Amino acid sequence: MEIPRACDYLIIGGGSAGCILARRLAEAGSDRVLLLEAGPSDEGDPVATELARLDEQDDSYDWGYLARATAASRHAMRYDRARMLGGCGNHNDCAFLLPPASDFDAWVMLGASGWDAAALASAQRRLEQRVNIEAAPAGNAIGRAFIDAGIACGLAEINYRETISSGVGWFPLNADGPLRQSASIAYLHPLDRLPANLQVLTGTLANALLITEGRVAGVDTDQGRITARREVILCAGAINTPQLLMLSGIGPGEELQGAGIPPVLDLPGVGQNLLDHVAGNIACEMLAPPPAWERTPCEAVATIRVDPDAPAPDVLYHFIPTLRDKYSGVDHFGGVEHGLKISPNVARPQSRGRLSLTGNSIHDAPNIDLNYFSDPEDYDLRILVAGLRFARRLAAVPCLARYIAREILPGPQADSDADLADYLRDTCETVYHPSGTCRIGKHDDPLAVVTPDLRVRGIAGLRIADASVFPSMVTVNINNTVMLVAERAAEIIAAGE
Ligand SMILES: Cc1cc2nc3c(=O)[nH]c(=O)nc-3n(C[C@H](O)[C@H](O)[C@H](O)COP(=O)(O)OP(=O)(O)OC[C@H]3O[C@@H](n4cnc5c(N)ncnc54)[C@H](O)[C@@H]3O)c2cc1C
Repeated sequence: MEIPRACDYLIIGGGSAGCILARRLAEAGSDRVLLLEAGPSDEGDPVATELARLDEQDDSYDWGYLARATAASRHAMRYDRARMLGGCGNHNDCAFLLPPASDFDAWVMLGASGWDAAALASAQRRLEQRVNIEAAPAGNAIGRAFIDAGIACGLAEINYRETISSGVGWFPLNADGPLRQSASIAYLHPLDRLPANLQVLTGTLANALLITEGRVAGVDTDQGRITARREVILCAGAINTPQLLMLSGIGPGEELQGAGIPPVLDLPGVGQNLLDHVAGNIACEMLAPPPAWERTPCEAVATIRVDPDAPAPDVLYHFIPTLRDKYSGVDHFGGVEHGLKISPNVARPQSRGRLSLTGNSIHDAPNIDLNYFSDPEDYDLRILVAGLRFARRLAAVPCLARYIAREILPGPQADSDADLADYLRDTCETVYHPSGTCRIGKHDDPLAVVTPDLRVRGIAGLRIADASVFPSMVTVNINNTVMLVAERAAEIIAAGE
């Protein structure tokens, strides 16, 4: 295919956000939209598009990053980031939850005016017209046992599509039977029937932005240069978007100089404010192989409030009746073959990590410092310790306990808060929700990277629309919110804001 050399809107990154934005901008008028993706197309690849085949995705579907060990979370971990059309929406478990309105109120407080739940309602409606959402199939017997254990512990069974409150239930999935409803599948497939003014270019790696006289004019790629008459919009995700900005000379000035990159714009917030959901596990050996699940092992969910006056649940549990390695990276489980994990995560963590460069090329993997458990009040650790204790209560309810031979981790000897905190520092996991690294903020926020209309401060012709722009973490799995950011971005851009 011949590479186009010019377009009106150039979108970099064909993931959850980029596919939606590309479709919507093309539908909004006659401007030529080009979506550029480093990885291959997902169309016709069942390993990418069928949810139940996630574990068959090998390293070729991923950027292969590692998050480094820190003083407070003491082990490096694999940090999956999809490299294919559809992005992490083809790499995930399709848990699809809309955050409570209080999360967006927090965004507004931090400077994201126009991003309250009421203002986002029309974007969410359009999203739901395009993306099929259905409850995880209720036939998963051990998932049902988890839900019944939650009820026995005082939680209400709730419909998570209608409310995010304390409770237990089935995950809503962005799926249509066995098929994912990722942004590529729901908004772009079939690729041979795209609007005439939309072109999708896969297998094309962006190296850096082209900047002339204070304006972003296009992008340099491994296939040559492409210019954009109107705007370039970065949708490369919360790791690669700040990486591309920094490689283009936009970021913390001194750091760029240190990496041998001539600074174009000193924007200290680029790469800061790295948010993620940190998780721990109660892991148990099972008496027998688990009953089969249909789509994904991760079909049941629970939410609790540790702090009674919290605006929304402060712990979210994934119930996972397997010890599959994809989500541990490290084998903490001593070779046990059949097991389950009750995996709480801190819904609104207070620790903030940071992303930085390790070199001046797109091929140098960035330094991902999640900085878990670093908040000065130890809020994250306290909430997660409480989350582990409640997980143990769930595991002890007879309907679930009848599947369990023994607790492997942390093991019954770990009982004090100090023991559990120590265990978490050694074994914590990510839920793979990096966000916030180019946050929306107030005009006097020194770490704000974009204004509420998603324009990058201090430079013309450039916006960001992906998980990077979150001012703070949302209570639930983030993909619905990322897709919402893209729908809202399309509204903003089409309105000429
Ligand atoms: C293993 C895993 C499980 C998850 N499970 C869930 C879940 O069940 N529910 C949920 O809500 N969320 C889940 N998430 C998170 C969610 O899927 C992501 O947060 C979301 O998809 C991120 O969307 P994005 O558009 O910001 O980035 P991405 O979807 O990552 O898209 C970025 C795209 O940009 C491309 N790109 C990057 N750099 C370049 C470059 N230089 N040139 C060209 N292209 C580039 C990438 O290849 C990628 O396709 C999970 C994530 C992972 C990794």
